[in-house]
Amino acid sequence: MASVETAAKRDSSPSSATATGRGAEGRPGGEDACGPGTLAVHAGEARRKPLDAITDPIFCASTYTFPDSQSVIDYIEQEQSREEYGRYGNPGERVAERKLAALDGAEAALLFASGMAAFVGVLMAKLGQGDNVVFTDECYHRSRQFCREHLARFGVETITVKTGDYDAIDAAVTPRTRLLVSESPTNPHQSCVDLDRLVEIGRRHGVETMIDATLATPYNLRPISAGVDYVLHSCTKYLGGHNDLLAGSVAGAADKLAPVRDLRGVMGGINQPHSVYLLLRGLKTFELRMQRHNENGLAVARFLESHPRVEKVYYPGLESHRDHAQAKKYMRGYGGLVTFLVRDADWRATADIVDRSQLCRIAPSLGGVESLIEQPLVMSYYQRTPEERRQYGIPDNMIRLACGIEDTADLIADLDQALRA
Ligand code: PLP
Repeated sequence: MASVETAAKRDSSPSSATATGRGAEGRPGGEDACGPGTLAVHAGEARRKPLDAITDPIFCASTYTFPDSQSVIDYIEQEQSREEYGRYGNPGERVAERKLAALDGAEAALLFASGMAAFVGVLMAKLGQGDNVVFTDECYHRSRQFCREHLARFGVETITVKTGDYDAIDAAVTPRTRLLVSESPTNPHQSCVDLDRLVEIGRRHGVETMIDATLATPYNLRPISAGVDYVLHSCTKYLGGHNDLLAGSVAGAADKLAPVRDLRGVMGGINQPHSVYLLLRGLKTFELRMQRHNENGLAVARFLESHPRVEKVYYPGLESHRDHAQAKKYMRGYGGLVTFLVRDADWRATADIVDRSQLCRIAPSLGGVESLIEQPLVMSYYQRTPEERRQYGIPDNMIRLACGIEDTADLIADLDQALRA
């Protein structure tokens, strides 16, 4: 058992050399020379793991022991790399963080219990009484809710501006602004941010920027290389990819993330070892899954756009999308989410189409291998007033389809029968 412990300590420590991760030795070029498929499989992992297992083990420990009191003192005074207590870190979590940082092209990443825990963690760490955050209006509805209902209680103002209106974003910044937050693409309208313009505004005003790139993933969009300070993902979606875990991440420069890491250690919004293992397992096939999600999304969007029962399709890969030029400039592919409006349909006729789908399952979420379908009116926006839905751009005849990785032809045939019946 002693050798397992030794190997675990050596190989899972944050400073150990990793295959294609930072500090990797003996590999020409290191991680920058590797593509996303290689990074998803190897980055962040030790070359040699406990018991020479090929997978990283799950460490269920809530605490970690010291052989004697001097070791505790050495650990604190010399800031040695090892685990101490589960709320401050777990070996699997560190592997996942290195892998996610490599995929995002960032210096560091932090893993949280969910995408919302990551979002709340960043905003709580970065904002204080009297500050404000400039926020674009199409962002995820729970992120908006956190800003509107909760940040306000701590004396932090949220200034909401129209997504894509860069003059309005510029004009909204005040000396009290600490953060510019947007999402790209947005959910469900799929607006795409002009990252160069956002970064330019942020830098000119000395304000940090954050992009929630959940819908894009690091495969399709790399905001850090465009100069954005923080990139956030709900790993519950494509990164986990199997609809079987909740997780969230934020990536950026290590020094800028340090206060977020400290707050996480206090707040305790960490992920659980089994869930982290599932995330690492899901990430192995990340690139392959994204290729199929992108193929399915584009094919389904094109099919819907040409269908007589469809009034409008929101998909950034379509030439008809308002932000197609931006999407083409920044994105490798356009993801699996397709939003559309049914022609001349009230809410019931729209719900009938959702109900007739044989392949897609009715559920919130996106990014998993199973295709999911929902009508925003009866899912996320059911408790909103008609006026609020109008304000958020959620008509009764809107359907949101999150294409999984099924065969493209089967998905299209299923939608065709649901629309025709
Ligand atoms: N950001 C976006 C764009 C989302 O769609 C979601 C969830 O749907 C979140 C953040 C929150 O992620 P989680 O559900 O993992 O908390």
